Amino acid sequence: MTNIPALLRRQVKDQANYCCEYCLLPNDASFYPHEVDHIIARKHGGKTTAENLAYACWRCNRHKGTDLGSFDPETGNFSFLFNPRTQCWNDHFSRHNAQISSKTTEGRTTISLLKLNTHERIVERQRLNL
Ligand SMILES: [Zn+2]
Repeated sequence: MTNIPALLRRQVKDQANYCCEYCLLPNDASFYPHEVDHIIARKHGGKTTAENLAYACWRCNRHKGTDLGSFDPETGNFSFLFNPRTQCWNDHFSRHNAQISSKTTEGRTTISLLKLNTHERIVERQRLNL
């Protein structure tokens, strides 16, 4: 458990508009509170700075863990994950009928590793009209 200063934690939440920066689920729609995630995990040298922190729902954060990337399910090649601090969500993903689609390799790999389109999560987004 990392000790993230309260002010920095607040800055990350505000910047994310209180929504998960991977799946866009609003914090107030989630049973478990969203978390502040190290994009590059501390074990890989990631710092506790605004540039390396993202707001993530419990599910996205658990699936991401300390991973920086994974294998693109289409090509099998290694790819980094989507980085909410240096990349724009709309450049890598789109949303249609509660389904999140990828536009890039990073998008595809992130959808796969973070399991953004499980039946349960799609139903949840449909229920919330997201
Ligand atoms: Zn999420």
